[in-house]
Order: sequence, then C-alpha cells, then structure tokens
Amino acid sequence: MFSVCCPRHQRRVLLSPEDILSLSPAPGGGFLIGYRCSCGYEGQWPAGDGEEDRNENCEETWNQRMAG
Ligand SMILES: [Zn+2]
Repeated sequence: MFSVCCPRHQRRVLLSPEDILSLSPAPGGGFLIGYRCSCGYEGQWPAGDGEEDRNENCEETWNQRMAG
C-alpha cells in the first residue's frame, strides 16, 4: 500500500500496487509513480521512503520531493 495526494479527493488516498500505471525517474531523485485513483483520477506522485507519507500536507510533500 502507498498513499498519494489526489486532486479530486483533495486529500491523501491509500492505493494498492494494482493502481500503479507506470514508474519514471523523478527530477529530484527517486521515482514518479503514475497512478489511477479509486475515483478515476490519473496523476503522478513522487515516491518517498514512507516516512513523509505521514505528512498530510500534499503540496508541501510534493515540493519537498521534487526539490530533491
Ligand atoms: Zn481520487
């Protein structure tokens, strides 16, 4: 299980590995996960080590990870 920030939900959503569409290198290191949310939204999320996934602030988490 992993969590992403879904713009349509406007909050964190837990997804399963089956919801992963693709993996690509992220600018700041690590990977960008291409995902499909349970609501049908498709987007990308920078993968973390799990620690920061407790941070509910989506924008902050995104910016931190994309900055490397
Ligand atoms: Zn969603």
